[in-house]
Amino acid sequence: MKVPYSYLTEQFKNSEQILEAFRAQIDRCQFTFGRELEEFENNMAQYTGAKYVLGTSSGTMALSLLLKASGVSYKDEVITVSQTFIATVGSIVAIGARPYYVDVLDDFTMAPDLIEQAITPRTKAIMPVHYSGNPAQMERIMEIADKHNIQVIEDACCTISGKIKGKHVGNFGISGAFSVHPLKNLNVWGDGGFIITNSKKLYDKIFLLRNHGLKGRDEVEILGYKARLDTVQDIVGNYLFKKIDNNTEKRNSTAKKYDGALSSKKLSDYITIPPRRKDSRHVYHMYMIQAKNRDMLLQFLVNKGVEAKVHYPIPVHLQKASMNQKEPFQMTDLSKTEAQCKSLITLPVHQHLTDEQIDYVIDCIYRFYEEELWK
Ligand SMILES: *Cc1c(COP(=O)(O)O)cnc(C)c1O
Repeated sequence: MKVPYSYLTEQFKNSEQILEAFRAQIDRCQFTFGRELEEFENNMAQYTGAKYVLGTSSGTMALSLLLKASGVSYKDEVITVSQTFIATVGSIVAIGARPYYVDVLDDFTMAPDLIEQAITPRTKAIMPVHYSGNPAQMERIMEIADKHNIQVIEDACCTISGKIKGKHVGNFGISGAFSVHPLKNLNVWGDGGFIITNSKKLYDKIFLLRNHGLKGRDEVEILGYKARLDTVQDIVGNYLFKKIDNNTEKRNSTAKKYDGALSSKKLSDYITIPPRRKDSRHVYHMYMIQAKNRDMLLQFLVNKGVEAKVHYPIPVHLQKASMNQKEPFQMTDLSKTEAQCKSLITLPVHQHLTDEQIDYVIDCIYRFYEEELWK
């Protein structure tokens, strides 16, 4: 049986409605700043409960724009994690600032208790990541940030629909950045992202930064970037956003099924499922667990047609790009991050999986440990 990791061909098998919206747009040719952008931003404001939304050219640019607009600049430090996709750190370095890595908890998100030891006179922001679709411990992080008067920017790039006690992620700090890249739960036909914030001041600044700092057609107020979300992507986003809650629910029920089947006594020496919080909504952008003999398990699953993956075998702080700094980036002890990267495995969890496929994945994992380890 084949269990593909990607759901894109399935998701876009029947895209007539999107193509029709494209055709209608061709009559208007408003390829940038079309009415669809406004519609997308309104949709996202309503969905996340944030006052202001700005579409951006990617999640990475959303993060960079936010840092820039928040006054983070050259050689300033941003406390973040190494247990993340490289874009988190890329967005910090792109504006001349520097990451300060702190270790994570067993659920792969920032360890709030390590933040204080990473604060220096250069600290300008804290950037927790809602990693794998799992909301970070925002209440605790905000307590510490408020105590030290440091702004918090949430990397919510892979966590659209994520909530803590009913409040959508991105609304805890001064703002949150989201990605609508094809591999995210809400996705478009290329690169894209958006920013949510409840600060009018931040919104106004990013509104300018996103479009060359142009105020109107002829006047440049500040020097900025070009980082807009194109009409084509808005059309796809507006179409798909109606399905996002169903997709999230489906992912959750699949994850629950995996959790139940893989937390058996039989597998307890081999599989570790991260702690699940009751007060938050995980969106399972990725279903990640820790597995003994991970690399062998991965190979076994792939051979059986299960497209499992590893996110990521090398943590950001151990990447060549991160280590080749003249003045090394600072970090707390990152042993948890490093241990996780050696044992993490990601199983397919998308909304188009059938019950047979899910059962097959579970069955393959049992078979692996039976055949490979118990012989
Ligand atoms: C995807 C992702 C990003 C970057 O988003 P892009 O739209 O690909 O630029 C940043 N951070 C995290 C945690 C992500 O998963």
